[in-house]
Amino acid sequence: MFQNKEIKQSLTQQETPFYFYDLELLTRTLDAAKKAADKRNFHIHYALKANFNDKILSLIQSKGYGADCVSGGEVEKSMEIGFPAEKITFAGVGKSDKEIIAALKHKIFAFNVESIQELEVINELAEQIGEKANVSLRINPNVDAHTHHYITTGLDENKFGVPNSELEKAASVIKSCAHINLIGLHFHVGSQITDMNVFKSLCVKVNEWKNFFEERGTYIKVINVGGGLGVDYKNPDANPIPDFEAYFDVFDKFLERTAQHEVHFELGRALVAQCGTLVSKVLYTKSGVKKNFLILDAGMTELMRPALYQAYHKIEKIGEIEADSKFMNYDVVGPICESSDCFGKEVELPICERGDLIAIRTAGAYGEVMASNYNLRNEIRHYFKEK
Ligand SMILES: *Cc1c(COP(=O)(O)O)cnc(C)c1O
Repeated sequence: MFQNKEIKQSLTQQETPFYFYDLELLTRTLDAAKKAADKRNFHIHYALKANFNDKILSLIQSKGYGADCVSGGEVEKSMEIGFPAEKITFAGVGKSDKEIIAALKHKIFAFNVESIQELEVINELAEQIGEKANVSLRINPNVDAHTHHYITTGLDENKFGVPNSELEKAASVIKSCAHINLIGLHFHVGSQITDMNVFKSLCVKVNEWKNFFEERGTYIKVINVGGGLGVDYKNPDANPIPDFEAYFDVFDKFLERTAQHEVHFELGRALVAQCGTLVSKVLYTKSGVKKNFLILDAGMTELMRPALYQAYHKIEKIGEIEADSKFMNYDVVGPICESSDCFGKEVELPICERGDLIAIRTAGAYGEVMASNYNLRNEIRHYFKEK
């Protein structure tokens, strides 16, 4: 979509680097996911941590999504944007007392609790302020998401969730806590998962644990299966919208449930990744002994995923490609004083010159939110395409 004159002209007007968000694509993505979920009576809470830009959040809120938060700051932001408290969940392994109390006062829908000690703390704090906390217990299901080890969260060796060996105890602690109301079970096995078999394995574990609790007389109303659906980083134009039908279908087929059970999802990346592009300008072209470098005015301070998890992002030259264009392989790097500040190695591109615009695609999730001012960099700008 970036290989035409019109888009080049409009992007050339803006000061680089900036995030470019296609709100029309975001709208179509949100509508597709909502439609596929509604059909099966599934509920989606958007995981704010993927992108908490106000304009994007407002659009998501207006489509009827709930909010999945992992910090007190995200809970406050959700309230400000107008997500109803009864559609806000609060997860995370390290909730502070202050964050818990604020969330209790907002009367959010539920805390996703990650340890027995946290159950006891929430119970105590709720008692102090005369509230009752709804909680879902996060279970570590020991399912391998087969994704990058930094974004795999559901294995026994990960820090997330209550380990299986402690669930019996957790069930009895919950019964003894007068200010805690167990409403559900929570699972989240990782991110950027494109193999539907992973979700099928998750369903099998969810069924087992739901039965475990129900056999002990604890009724599980909410089954929260987390997020993690991946997107196509290689072919953003061919697959701009993930296959939500296929994704929800797995859960529809393999989760055991009755009409009284509610199934909740926490999608982040799948909703916002494809609508965002980092637009940057070539500052310098440099031929090394073995390599050709494109040095951009954006770096790991604007988009950290390549430096943090060797993530792939499609890199394109913006503007028309002539039939007789010559191509060259470049290492596309940023200006930051770190060798990991590299967006891609040996990337084939039409020959570039100083001043050309470069698009780094599929950057709407875990992009702008991870920006930092390391090297005292300026705050990143953004620009929206509405129609
Ligand atoms: C990060 C996270 C999500 C969202 O993950 P995506 O891969 O972006 O869908 C959902 N739930 C929890 C608990 C998370 O930590």
